[in-house]
Amino acid sequence: MGIELPLLCFIILVFSIYAVPIEDSQDSSNIFLNDIREVESEDRSAISTKRRRWPRGIIPYVISRRFTKKERKTIYKAFKMINSTTCIKFYPKTKRNGSYVHFVRGKKNSGCFSNVGRIGNGRQNLNVEPHSFCMNPGAIAHELLHVVGLYHEMSRPDRDDYIKIVKENLQPGVISNWHKHRYSLTYGTKYDYLSLMHYGSRAGSKNGEPTMLNRKGNVVKMGQLKKLRKGDIAIVKGIYRCRG
Ligand SMILES: [Zn+2]
Repeated sequence: MGIELPLLCFIILVFSIYAVPIEDSQDSSNIFLNDIREVESEDRSAISTKRRRWPRGIIPYVISRRFTKKERKTIYKAFKMINSTTCIKFYPKTKRNGSYVHFVRGKKNSGCFSNVGRIGNGRQNLNVEPHSFCMNPGAIAHELLHVVGLYHEMSRPDRDDYIKIVKENLQPGVISNWHKHRYSLTYGTKYDYLSLMHYGSRAGSKNGEPTMLNRKGNVVKMGQLKKLRKGDIAIVKGIYRCRG
């Protein structure tokens, strides 16, 4: 027992750190809630305008020195998820770059958040809270896709053909996260419940019950953090007119 107890404690510790199922945590928690920081009086179709795109698809970045080596690796993995599937490139900022993304190691409970598209006045922050769901390549790639110019999948103009929002299960004050962007472009893609840009089906829930159902009123799996889906890639390619 003298040996077994510490081992058991170790296993419990490891389990509690590494074994939280990502999909489940996304499906049942508030991840990505309020993760878009809007610029004042935003034209919500803005990313369809040229000035919000990153010239030649190049996004210069700075990663705060506060991040640990391991955390930086997680950020690099997020870059890879995007630059291996699209024409977007991430390069360390040089003196010649005007606009750039600054990765901020966020405070406790700050979550992760960013802006949609290129703001265009120098530094724009992408906040990542360490020791949280945000410190995950998929979660950071989600934020980076906002920076690239994507809104949430369930904000698409056609979303009402695919999802029902269960307002009675929503926490007070979070409904703005489900704002529909009537004019945002979808580049001929089909609505995808498993888009990297889709919230989990219980996002913003006040009681653990689903906040989104499919059109038939069934609970379906929504959101994931593993990869960009075909539609996510097609939208990036559409915005930046990537070939291939
Ligand atoms: Zn988001």
